[in-house]
Amino acid sequence: MNAYEIIIKKRDGGTLTSDELKFLIDGFVKGAVPDYQMAAFLMAAFLNGLTEDEMVELTSLYIGSGKRIDLSEIEGHKLDKHSTGGVGDGVSLILAPLVASCGVTVPMISGRGLGHTGGTLDKLESIPGFTTSRSPSEFKKQLWEIGVAIISQSAEIVPADGKIYALRDVTGTVDSQPLIVASIMSKKIAEGIDGLVMDVKVGSGAFMRTMNDAIKLAEALVKVGEGSSCATRAFITNMDQPLGRYVGNALEVKETIEFLRGDYIAPDMKEVTFTLAAEMLVMAEVEKELAGAVASLENKLETGKPLEKFKELIEAQGGDPRVCDDLTLLPKASLNLPVLADRGGYVQSIDNHRIGTASVELGAGRKSMEDNIDPAVGFEIHIKLGDKVEKGSEVAIVFCNDEDMGLEIAKKLESCFVISEEPVTPPSTIFYYVDKDGSKPIAKS
Ligand code: URA
Repeated sequence: MNAYEIIIKKRDGGTLTSDELKFLIDGFVKGAVPDYQMAAFLMAAFLNGLTEDEMVELTSLYIGSGKRIDLSEIEGHKLDKHSTGGVGDGVSLILAPLVASCGVTVPMISGRGLGHTGGTLDKLESIPGFTTSRSPSEFKKQLWEIGVAIISQSAEIVPADGKIYALRDVTGTVDSQPLIVASIMSKKIAEGIDGLVMDVKVGSGAFMRTMNDAIKLAEALVKVGEGSSCATRAFITNMDQPLGRYVGNALEVKETIEFLRGDYIAPDMKEVTFTLAAEMLVMAEVEKELAGAVASLENKLETGKPLEKFKELIEAQGGDPRVCDDLTLLPKASLNLPVLADRGGYVQSIDNHRIGTASVELGAGRKSMEDNIDPAVGFEIHIKLGDKVEKGSEVAIVFCNDEDMGLEIAKKLESCFVISEEPVTPPSTIFYYVDKDGSKPIAKS
């Protein structure tokens, strides 16, 4: 058996055996299969797809590439939330301390920026001193002590996903349903949780552009989770516009702190965060029903405990918790460039994928595996779909450290907003709920 033959087989539309997949994944993790062969395989899998059996096998090979964490000594339910990736999607940062402050243990193995989307780890690492690499025993100890930890894959935990994720990011092989399922569910199953709430994004800024693809992805995630004794629910949520008001690493941490302090809470960010968090509280049997769970999240936010939990998380992972009281301690770009509306009217559509790629070009994400990101850069977006805007009004701000680049990106950003004369109805934020019985539409709130 050799990697070349396996690549050819997938390229020609064949179905790989467990042994062939094992040869490839184990070989890649050990360094025997080089990046270029793995990249060729990923592209073949992207173009020709994987069967359900191949996808399930890939997931278990990813898990088997490292240790499976045993959290059984920690009492109560252990629940996580994960997103399939979006623009301005800082939900995990807010939700993890919020849910942990309600008494649920929240173990999270998260990812970095992928393609045009931001990553939880990159965002957290913009906090001075914050580190995300932890051994399984350190992970467990932190969960035991403060009930929440957000860490990366490592040589010990799902190393296959860590290496393959970085390669997919720069080889145009991200938006593949089976590769996404294996990547997400391996991390989730390996981290020892007993329940998971998935946020499956759909729209121009998501990897799944159509509702049909998003439903299929959500159902596959639920199926693989349930098949591994991890109760899994999914919500399909809107990614046709950035979530909240910031796109960028330190900027999304700022948004998290403002949310937890109650200084500024973007309605769409709140709707997604509270919906997912309430589901987690019910799954953890902390609350009996969703309405009560939402009320209890509201009350908890008022007490300031979720902000305290966020500080504990930052401190436990080596960061400076004073950022929560003094936002000037976060990295800050030297320039703010305004983006103005080129006409008046109503926001009809937003090219959210282009906003994501513009943020990567600005330095908020990576174009190659060796790239360092600039934690300070990004955008503040003032408008949402359906909003009325005046010609010449400020619709966004570009935060940058290089004026020429910033001006170029500001022009790009301006072209992302389509303004029409006719009034536009704002879209729903949450579309579907998916569990093992299938998908159900959610009525617009
Ligand atoms: N998040 C992940 O962890 N993996 C993917 O492939 C996409 C989103």
